[in-house]
Amino acid sequence: MTKRIAVIGAGLAGLACARVLRRAGAYVEIFEQDRIIGGRMATTRVGVVPYDHGAQYLTARSAQFRVFIDELCHAGYAAPWKPNTSSGGGQMNPWYVGTPGMSSIVRPLAESVRIHTSRRVHTIERSDEAWHIWFDDQSVMGPFAVVAVAVPAPQALLLLGRVEEVSEPLARVRMSPCWSLMVRLDQHMQLDQDVFSDMSDVIRWIARNNAKPGRSLKGETMVIHASPQWSRETEDAEPEAVAEELWSEVCHILALPPVRPSQMTAHLWRYGLVEQSLGETFIYSSQQRVGVAGDWCLGRLSEHAYESGSALGRAIVASLD
Ligand SMILES: Cc1cc2nc3c(=O)[nH]c(=O)nc-3n(C[C@H](O)[C@H](O)[C@H](O)COP(=O)(O)OP(=O)(O)OC[C@H]3O[C@@H](n4cnc5c(N)ncnc54)[C@H](O)[C@@H]3O)c2cc1C
Repeated sequence: MTKRIAVIGAGLAGLACARVLRRAGAYVEIFEQDRIIGGRMATTRVGVVPYDHGAQYLTARSAQFRVFIDELCHAGYAAPWKPNTSSGGGQMNPWYVGTPGMSSIVRPLAESVRIHTSRRVHTIERSDEAWHIWFDDQSVMGPFAVVAVAVPAPQALLLLGRVEEVSEPLARVRMSPCWSLMVRLDQHMQLDQDVFSDMSDVIRWIARNNAKPGRSLKGETMVIHASPQWSRETEDAEPEAVAEELWSEVCHILALPPVRPSQMTAHLWRYGLVEQSLGETFIYSSQQRVGVAGDWCLGRLSEHAYESGSALGRAIVASLD
């Protein structure tokens, strides 16, 4: 198979899809709006300090994702994480994190595929049984035999609103925003847990980022996620004001002594978390030769994104045989 296929979105779903297609012999090109790949599987640097401000850890319920995690661990891109928790670290499913950051998780998937970063897709158009892709700068690429769209459902709907058999199920999916606060303290805090979840109506998650394997042990870095409800209410607020409010809530909840972070930055994941999933692994129109994948198809976790993207890749391969 030497078909030219476009994948839109270089998150876990898009990259997993691209790997299946490439292994089947397709010529795959990925278009990503961001400067970097990984999507919500992210590690960002504020100055020189890295933070996992999106996905916090991985679990593997499916055999397929367990194989992928084993591959990552063997290659040094991931390691098990047993944080101190209120349950004493005895999670039902083992936790894994990317090393040295969560963004390492996607690195093996990006090998041998052509990835165009800083390329936001504006429109996709089908004519003469082929797809063309238009970008924000009005440039165009194509023809592509198939397009796989692997972006959050509300963003996919913007691209596929005119393809009825895809847009109708897409409109059923609900995603909510999530504020992520990154905090650096110059001294270690005396905390008896590495992670705290569902702490109040405002705070959903607090993690000591530096407690993960392979992170720098100097000082204290924390990642805090606000609840979906609070994030929605403050979606249009200034990041600086959000940061102050979240930090004051964390100090209150954890009964921290008055301490001023040496660094504090808030980031909004506008389509961060899945509230209502599709309930199907992917959507693919073999007639229109266009498909959609993402975590929101099956659930809300990284493993759902991987499973969805891989399955869409296999469906595309089968349709081209
Ligand atoms: C705060 C937070 C905490 C989380 N915690 C966990 C956790 O602990 N464990 C877990 O398993 N999961 C967690 N998740 C979920 C996990 O991050 C996602 O399930 C997974 O990363 C989704 O991958 P994806 O490929 O479906 O989507 P994304 O990662 O969103 O990838 C989509 C990509 O498409 C790009 N894109 C969008 N529109 C366009 C366009 N028009 N043109 C070009 N590119 C475009 C985006 O920039 C992005 O890179 C968390 C998510 C968030 C936000």
